[in-house]
Formats: sequence, C-alpha cells, structure tokens
Amino acid sequence: MSETGTADHLVESTASAAIEWAVSEFGADLTLLCSGQDAVLVDLEMKIDATLELAFIDTGFHFNETIETMLAIVERYQPKLRIVVPWRHLDGVGKPGFCCSDHKVEQLDHALDGKRAWLSGLRRTDGPSRSHARQVETDRRGLTKINPIVAWTDADVAEYEQRHDIIVNPLRAQGYPSIGCAPCTSPIRSRRDPRSGRWTGSDKTECGLHL
Ligand code: SF4
Repeated sequence: MSETGTADHLVESTASAAIEWAVSEFGADLTLLCSGQDAVLVDLEMKIDATLELAFIDTGFHFNETIETMLAIVERYQPKLRIVVPWRHLDGVGKPGFCCSDHKVEQLDHALDGKRAWLSGLRRTDGPSRSHARQVETDRRGLTKINPIVAWTDADVAEYEQRHDIIVNPLRAQGYPSIGCAPCTSPIRSRRDPRSGRWTGSDKTECGLHL
C-alpha cells in the first residue's frame, strides 16, 4: 500500500489485506458505505474491526427489500451505524442529475464529513462504467476510497456468500443484480451489463457516488 494513504497505488491486495491496511491507516477516520444490496463487504470488514462505522444513505426511495436487508445486517452485525437522510425527499424524484445529486452525492458528503477514507463494495464487473476501477483511489473530495473487492467476479461473490451465509437482498434473485432506488431500478436487460436495469431509458449509468 502507499505510504501516505492518499495516493493511488498500483499493487492490488486480497480484500482482507486491503481492509486491514485501511483500518490500520485510518482508524476511526474510516467509514464503510453500505447500499443494502448484500453484506459481503460488511462481513469481511466486521471480521477485522467490529467497531468501524457503517454509513447508509436513506434516499427515501429504497425498495422495502433494501430496508429489510439493512435491518437484517444491523441485527446480525450490530455495527456503529450512521444513517444519512436528505431533507428534500419530494423534489425532482428520478430526474437525472438533480435527484441523485441531492439525495445521494450530497448525503455521502455528509456521511464522510470528518473522515479521511471510505470503503466501498464497487467491483469492476458491476458494469462497463466501472471496468477500470482500482482498489485504492482518491475521490473528488481528496479522500482515499478503498474498493477491497474490486477484482472479485460474480462467482467469487457467490462463493463467499454461500460459504459465510451472507445476508443478500432478495431482489438479487429476482433479476436485480444492481439495486438502487425503486423509481430508477428495473430488472436487468442485458446479462453483459449488470447495471443495465438502472435508469433505463436514459443514458445515465452512475448516480455519482463513485465518480
Ligand atoms: S437513483 Fe433515482 S430516485 Fe434515487 S436519488 Fe438517483 S434519481 Fe433519485
């Protein structure tokens, strides 16, 4: 890993080694962003440091299944949890740009306020827009973003979920490999792009959290 903890680095580690490095480098200045899609990253992290803060952005537009998945995660792991809630729930729902900007990106700014780094479950196989992601990056705020499972395939994820009895959002088995807000998430349209069910009918591919 880099000596400063802020520069991008070239050598990828195992997921656990990347998390161990992040925990030792940033301590309480580290947050794990959880989307309620599954608990793979939460499980990996909690086995290393059960005191880490977990952040969840409650946009107000989540599927009931996502909220139930989050409740199950909280019940099992009992994490220190920060739920970030936007105050403008009804303005411009689903409008590309405006809505994600207010209800997701700005809320992530709040969740990361005072932090130096965050963990994300982003993977290259999530879709073409993420195919060049790195395990350690610097985000637009200048914070270090660690993607421990960036190189994992779907098979890697499935194997880990089965071996560790991981909590998974039930929508995953119903044609939703990528789960965002309900108004903007449909069942998948192309097996080649797991994110093809997001913002269907528009050219939007990312909410902005990972840009
Ligand atoms: S995913 Fe859709 S509903 Fe959710 S914040 Fe973005 S535009 Fe709004």
